Amino acid sequence: MANQMKTRLLHADREEDIQTAGRILKEGGLVAIPTETVYGLAANALDGTAVSHIFSAKGRPMDNPLIVHISHLSQWGGLVREIPERAMKLAKQFWPGPMTIILPKSPVIPGEVTAGQQTVAVRFPENAVARAVIDAAGVPLAAPSANLSGRPSPTEASHVMADLNGRIDAVLDGGPCRVGVESTVVTLASDPPRLLRPGGITLEQLQSVLGNVEMDSAVMHPLASGAKVLSPGMKYKHYSPKANVIILDGDLSSYRDYVNSHCGPGTVALCYTGEDAGLNVPAVCYGSREDSRELARNLFDALREVDRKNAKTVYARCPKPQGVGLAVYNRLIRAAGFEVLHLG
Ligand code: AMP
Ligand code: MG
Repeated sequence: MANQMKTRLLHADREEDIQTAGRILKEGGLVAIPTETVYGLAANALDGTAVSHIFSAKGRPMDNPLIVHISHLSQWGGLVREIPERAMKLAKQFWPGPMTIILPKSPVIPGEVTAGQQTVAVRFPENAVARAVIDAAGVPLAAPSANLSGRPSPTEASHVMADLNGRIDAVLDGGPCRVGVESTVVTLASDPPRLLRPGGITLEQLQSVLGNVEMDSAVMHPLASGAKVLSPGMKYKHYSPKANVIILDGDLSSYRDYVNSHCGPGTVALCYTGEDAGLNVPAVCYGSREDSRELARNLFDALREVDRKNAKTVYARCPKPQGVGLAVYNRLIRAAGFEVLHLG
C-alpha cells in the first residue's frame, strides 16, 4: 500500500472536505487531521485492519500503541472497562484538551490499537476540526502523530505532506497547531497515577486534581536496558532531524563560546529568540526563553528547519524542564539521542 496512492489535500474551512474526510475514514482509509497538539494520522479505531495501515504508512514499530480520539465525553465509557472517579475528575478539568488518559480497555478495542496491551489511551481533543471529523466519521479515531516514525511530529499540513505524501489517502489542512507538542499522557491503570509523557497539561496541573502523581523516569532519562516499558513510545530515538543534535547545558555565554569554538560547515545553532547575535554559525531561534508555550509550539518546525538548512551538527540550548518546558525538554533530549554536554 505504502507509496502508491494519490494523497488528496483537503481544507478544513470547507464543510464538504470535512465530510469527505469522514467518509474516507468510515471506509477504512487514513486521513491526517489537525488537532491542537500535532497533526494526527487517523483511522477508524474499531477496525483493526484500518488501524494496521497506520503502522505501515508511518513505519511505526508494532509495539507502540495508539491514542483513541473521541468527540463527546459519552463515547469514553464504551472504550474502557470502567471510568473511575479520579478519571472523571481529570476529564472534567482538562477535557477537551491536550491530555490523554490510560485505563483498562473494553473488548471493542482491537489489539492493533493497544499493541496487545490490556489498557487503552483515550483523548478528547479541543480542536473543533478534529471533533467535526470524528463526528463525520461516526466512530472514535485512533491517531498517532502524522509523521514518518522517528521524524519530528508535524505541526502543519506541509510537514505531513513532506513525510507521508503518497502513503495515505488525504491530509486535512487546518492550519498550524496551537500547542505544538503531543498530549500529556497519564496512566490511571497504576497507583498512584503516573505521568508517562509530558505535554500541554503540566505535571503540576495533574497534581492539583489528583494529589500524588509520579513522573515516570523515562520522561527525563534514557531507559535502562531491560527495564519494563510503561510507555513504549518513549523508548525510541524520536522527533529527530537528519542532523546530529547535541544539547549544551550552561549559560548563554558558555553556549556561545562552545559553539563558536566547535563550529564547521553544517553547524547550526538551535537557540532562543535574540540569542543568535554573536554566534558565528547560522541559527534557528524558536521562541523566548521565558515562554515555554511558545517554545513548545515552534519546536518541531525548528527541528525540521535545521534539516532545510542542511545542518550536520546542531547545538541546542537546554530548555528549563519545568511546566510546559518539561515537554520541550523531553522531546529535545530524544531528538538528541540523550546527548547532553554540561558546560563548565
Ligand atoms: P503518538 O500519538 O505518536 O504520540 O503515540 C502515542 C503514545 O501514547 C505512544 O507512543 C505511547 O507511548 C502512548 N500510549 C498509547 N497507548 C498507551 C497504553 N495503552 N499504555 C501506555 N502508553 C500508551
Ligand atoms: Mg508520535
